[in-house]
Amino acid sequence: MRNVQSTQLIFELSKPGRRAHRLPPADVPTPEVSSLYPSASLRTRLPALPEVAEGDVVRHFTNLSTLNMSVDTHFYPLGSCTMKYNPKRNERLAGLAGVADLHPLQSESTIQGMLELLYRLQGYLAEISGLPAVSLQPAAGAHGELTALMTAVAYFKHKGESDRRVVLVPDSSHGTNPASAKVIGLETVTVRSCPDGSVDVEDLKSKVNSRTAVFMITNPSTLGLFEKQIKQIAALVHGVGGLIYLDGANMNAILGIARPGDFGADMMHYNPHKTFSGPHGGGGPGAGPICVRDFLEPYLPVPRVEKSGERYILNADHPHSIGRVRSFFGNVGVLVRAYCYICSLGGSGLRAASEQAVLNANYLRSRISPLLPVPHAGPCMHEFVASAAALKKQRGLTAMDLAKRLLDFGFHAPTVYFPLTVPEAVMIEPTETESKETMDAFVRAIELILEEDQELVHAAPHSTAISRPDEVSAARKPVVRWTPTPT
Ligand SMILES: *Cc1c(COP(=O)(O)O)cnc(C)c1O
Repeated sequence: MRNVQSTQLIFELSKPGRRAHRLPPADVPTPEVSSLYPSASLRTRLPALPEVAEGDVVRHFTNLSTLNMSVDTHFYPLGSCTMKYNPKRNERLAGLAGVADLHPLQSESTIQGMLELLYRLQGYLAEISGLPAVSLQPAAGAHGELTALMTAVAYFKHKGESDRRVVLVPDSSHGTNPASAKVIGLETVTVRSCPDGSVDVEDLKSKVNSRTAVFMITNPSTLGLFEKQIKQIAALVHGVGGLIYLDGANMNAILGIARPGDFGADMMHYNPHKTFSGPHGGGGPGAGPICVRDFLEPYLPVPRVEKSGERYILNADHPHSIGRVRSFFGNVGVLVRAYCYICSLGGSGLRAASEQAVLNANYLRSRISPLLPVPHAGPCMHEFVASAAALKKQRGLTAMDLAKRLLDFGFHAPTVYFPLTVPEAVMIEPTETESKETMDAFVRAIELILEEDQELVHAAPHSTAISRPDEVSAARKPVVRWTPTPT
């Protein structure tokens, strides 16, 4: 049963005079505070801090920590986001004093070990992508998109092709793709998909021209399908002098099996917090390293981790660089976890992880498609998109209702209403780390929900601390400050 106290604020538990502990009297001379600071800076009233006993504090925060679902507590099949298990070994290694206690302003000579780790990581990312030049700086996938587009703009400018201002995006693309283009003032043009989910090559042909800068493609796509025409698409875009950008959010499907650089991509980002098991969610830090072809290397951000003789250096001496895109050296803690993950699995292990992810997704797809139709023919890659459109028509239940009711069964909701090309989309990604038993339990929950009373499902979730918040207001106008009600 849920503890009703857990939804209270710590301030509301306050009772005058309650204390967690008292500090012992100081055993050194303590000057009067008023002799140290100007009187104008001193408080005249005590701050209104909550007064609570230690036990109350411990219970309060322990209970709070259980209100959200996480990969450590629940199956989390959030399509596109790749919520795989976060190995505890990575946490232990990233927390080692020699890693976690480094200061970003330390001199190069004292961080040789970290620079070597980052240098090697660059090499691994280049090898996995088939694209030789790497920047680890971007702070998230979306930031990687932006950085790569800026790199492309600098490249075209240097070539005297500044009028290439158009970025093409498929209609199934992630919202960050067109957003990244807009942020730096590029135009976006949408390319249609065919009914089977692939890019409509005829539509693409009619839209590529001498103003095309970049075609941003997610492959495998957000429908969980590998774009079989990718070589033809790349040839079309390259034919007019444009570049192919690969949104690498779905790399979990193809590690060690196919390399973007080999199927035509000129630039890409990784989401280490997805593909390489970094913890994420709740807005926590990610990273968005990018890999590019050698002719784009001069424009990558600085400083770059390089090797000079036996030393590792941070080299800012690249005159055509777009400059810095992140303070210090990016989200190094996330990069360390990615490095540990890649080293733990090794080449064959990464490939095995992708194969298992694809197998799991196809198992779940075959079990769920009789319940919720999957509009695109299989087999799928690491995820698939089902549709609740028929359910809505027949029973008035939406993808949102289903997602909310799953929470009551102890499952984090799948991604819903994305991609936009599938009505009432339910996007499911089990990842390689889930067992058959867990996936079977998830299918069983959906079977049960489909038999339930409509009103019950409409009003779900019933077991969470809050039920259906206004999600837009919660994101755009969060209330993060507690104000006491006057007594
Ligand atoms: C997650 C995701 C992104 C954005 O990555 P962030 O690291 O969240 O900024 C871009 N494209 C796709 C397809 C994604 O799934």
